[in-house]
Amino acid sequence: MSTPTSGAGKGLEGVIAANTRLSDVRGDIGQLIYCGYDINELAGKGGKVILLSHFGRPKGGPDPKYSLRPVVPEVARIIGRPVAFAEDCVGAVAAAAIAKMKNGDVLCLENTRFHPGEENNDKELAKKFAALGDIFVDDAFSAAHREHAANTAIVTVSNLPAYPGRAMKAEIDALQRAFEMPEHPVAAIVGGAKISTKLDLLGHLLSKVEVLIIGGGMANTFLAAQGKPIGKSLCENDLIPNARDILAKAKSLGREIVLPVDAVVAQKFAEHVPTRVASVDQIGPTDMILDFGPASVKHVISVLSRTKTLVWNGPFGAFEVKPFDTGTVEVARAVAELTKAGRLVSFAGGGDTVAALNVAGVVGALTHVSTAGGAFLESLEGKTLPGVKVLLVS
Ligand code: AMP
Repeated sequence: MSTPTSGAGKGLEGVIAANTRLSDVRGDIGQLIYCGYDINELAGKGGKVILLSHFGRPKGGPDPKYSLRPVVPEVARIIGRPVAFAEDCVGAVAAAAIAKMKNGDVLCLENTRFHPGEENNDKELAKKFAALGDIFVDDAFSAAHREHAANTAIVTVSNLPAYPGRAMKAEIDALQRAFEMPEHPVAAIVGGAKISTKLDLLGHLLSKVEVLIIGGGMANTFLAAQGKPIGKSLCENDLIPNARDILAKAKSLGREIVLPVDAVVAQKFAEHVPTRVASVDQIGPTDMILDFGPASVKHVISVLSRTKTLVWNGPFGAFEVKPFDTGTVEVARAVAELTKAGRLVSFAGGGDTVAALNVAGVVGALTHVSTAGGAFLESLEGKTLPGVKVLLVS
């Protein structure tokens, strides 16, 4: 990214940094620390750093519940500098706070979503955002799939030079490494509850990877498509034809699809209920499939040990409830080991996936773990994100 070499005395009045995940400050300190490097570097070089961010889903007007004020002390603690706060992100209040700034100061503005124009990508609001500073640094990859005034129109309606911050750049670089010049063979793990939310993803990945590993509740719909009994397991019956199409497409493209060969089943979805391991040909009428079985986990790990690049979204089982986290945790640990040994380049993302990697204690051991949910998924679907498209990415 480009940063001002010397802000003081060179007309660098302000740097607008978009840090969407300031909102999640309690749950996502890692992201904030990452953004903190940019804020510190810019302020350290004499820039006046103005933070634009959003929090929650206020209904287009000020709502104290969604104020960014409580975030300010945490930002100050992390960057080790005082951070001022203004009760509006545009208009006279913001202008007065900016007028008081000295070189090297940091100012956090109130939630951009307190203005309805933010989520409508409103040009007039975007012009006001753009007028706040001279350079725009966007570190909010997790919002990059949205066309909002503070991340898209702010650039298209102005002449602001717009750059990715470090966290944004790390995400862009990881996706390029995974899809544009990956080391082959490439495998993808797609897990989670349903295929309905991941049909585009499955379709796109089939054209990109040699091996597609399907985990979680969504594997049940594929098992049903193969005529296997799945008892009372989660299944999207209306999407069985889509699952058949995906299996047929994989065959015609010569791609390998990995489905479970056994499963951990229970009669009830609850903590520490009695469980049984069953072959996927022998699921009983009252059984619920809640995790990959040991033979399936072993098979996935053996596939991964002959893989060079992995992209992972979605857990192998209902990992929030023990012992149904076992499959996901074992695969996560194997991915971490292979990555540490230099045998695998591993990318993972999505809220549940990151939560599952946390359960396994391996987030730091993968090559790159995305902080984003929707933006990561849309990138894996092959979409160009509007918030990335407007940036000058080298
Ligand atoms: P997603 O948001 O689509 O990535 O799905 C994540 C959710 O899928 C998690 O809450 C898991 O508990 C759930 N899940 C994974 N496997 C199963 C399964 N076999 N049965 C029911 N839910 C599952």
